[in-house]
Amino acid sequence: MLTLTAREKACEHLDKACHGEACPLAAGFYDRLPVARSAAAERGWLDRAGLRAVALEHQVCPYYLGQEMSRWADVVVADVNYYFDLHAQLYALTLQQQWQVGILVDEAHNLVERGRGMYTATLDHAAFRRLVPQLPAPLKRPLARVATAWQELAEQLDDAYGERDYRVLEHLPGKLIAALQQAVSRIVEYQSEQPIALDGELQRFSFEAQHLCRVAETFGSHSLCDLTRQPPRGRQRRAGATLTLRNVMPAPFLAARFTAAHGGTLFSATLSPQGYFRDLLGVPDSAPWLALGSPFAAGQLEVSIATRLSTRYAHRAASLDPLVARIAARFHQRRGNYLAFFSSFAYLEQVAERLAQRHPEVVQWRQAARMDDAARASFLARFESGGAGVGFAVLGGIFGEGIDLPGERLIGAFVATLGLPQVNPVNEQMRERLQTLLGSGYDYAYFYPGMQKVVQAAGRVIRTASDRGVIELLDDRFAQPRARALLPAWWPEPRLD
Ligand code: SF4
Repeated sequence: MLTLTAREKACEHLDKACHGEACPLAAGFYDRLPVARSAAAERGWLDRAGLRAVALEHQVCPYYLGQEMSRWADVVVADVNYYFDLHAQLYALTLQQQWQVGILVDEAHNLVERGRGMYTATLDHAAFRRLVPQLPAPLKRPLARVATAWQELAEQLDDAYGERDYRVLEHLPGKLIAALQQAVSRIVEYQSEQPIALDGELQRFSFEAQHLCRVAETFGSHSLCDLTRQPPRGRQRRAGATLTLRNVMPAPFLAARFTAAHGGTLFSATLSPQGYFRDLLGVPDSAPWLALGSPFAAGQLEVSIATRLSTRYAHRAASLDPLVARIAARFHQRRGNYLAFFSSFAYLEQVAERLAQRHPEVVQWRQAARMDDAARASFLARFESGGAGVGFAVLGGIFGEGIDLPGERLIGAFVATLGLPQVNPVNEQMRERLQTLLGSGYDYAYFYPGMQKVVQAAGRVIRTASDRGVIELLDDRFAQPRARALLPAWWPEPRLD
């Protein structure tokens, strides 16, 4: 068994580049690899710690030893990108070695967004313009062609759309893509002639441009090509434009990965509705869909829906007092730890502030927009058995799924809003394209992803067969039959109040 870990987490020398002149674990890697590989194979159980121990004993890079061992392992535990990504190593090996693989995908509901991300490519114009003055001489000309084609495109955006910041192109920008392809070949050639690694910024641009060129080769109705205006910075007189090839429906790509596997199972507590996931994930029509009974009983949970409360954007200001009144009433009715979820940090802050003013006796702590591992751990550590307070978090964020707070550590959750993605030009384009492709634009772009976040967040409350808890769904729209149809079947009938 082998666990593959991302480079940022497996690397022993994060401040160094991955080549023999910079990193001692890369120098002589291939000389020491055969012995390290035998030792790893003998060990058999190569979780992160085990792999690291073997690697350090033999003075080779743990990250690259993991990549090597994936050829020899019977079971590989890894992020989905190792098999589903456009450049996935495990998929390439499956084809090359004619492996018969079985794939198990946990938390498969996330594969829709992850899949979109894998087949989306973005090039940041501002980063490119910062790079240009520092280019080595042999790369100046090929990258100048990229700069010209890109600037022309940015100016077209200005001419055609005036002050609008976003535009969808009907066709790929052929001139820019051709210039990028040439530039990438020249960078690769240049790199092979250099004894030392490329500068970090240039390396990043090269990877991103290569990815964009590959995504461009597969461009089709499953994706959008768009430009987003970037304001001029510093001494620049003209605005720039970020180019994105944006995947809307990853199904055609993921379907090829399922076909290459001998078999597989996708599982999750929130794979509903079935049609949405089948359509977007490209699951074969012949694949059976099983709904397994929950290990939890309806008696463990109390669910209520606030039918006289609207958290629609236009009603946000009016919702603050009723929201804090419900949170405080529940807290005083049964003291303990609760999570309160909101669709955005702005809304979260408004409600948390109002609760602090009206009910300073209710202890609270809040998720911040950027939290490192220590900050996350300290947020979760507040949920102590026997403690009492309200943790504020955002729907779909780091505390909205994948965390376990069993028993008295968490006795209830408040979920305000349906978790609908923000209405903005990109999401509107996604909605239109999904309507055209699948006839279900609003539900696929907004409603189902929103309700999925709600059910995941509410799912933090009951984690074991002995847990007891409450869920308050704070919006009148939760009472609509189509929303209630997406709530877990094992939940008790919600109380409407
Ligand atoms: S070779 Fe390995 S240890 Fe060295 S910098 Fe690269 S990832 Fe880190």
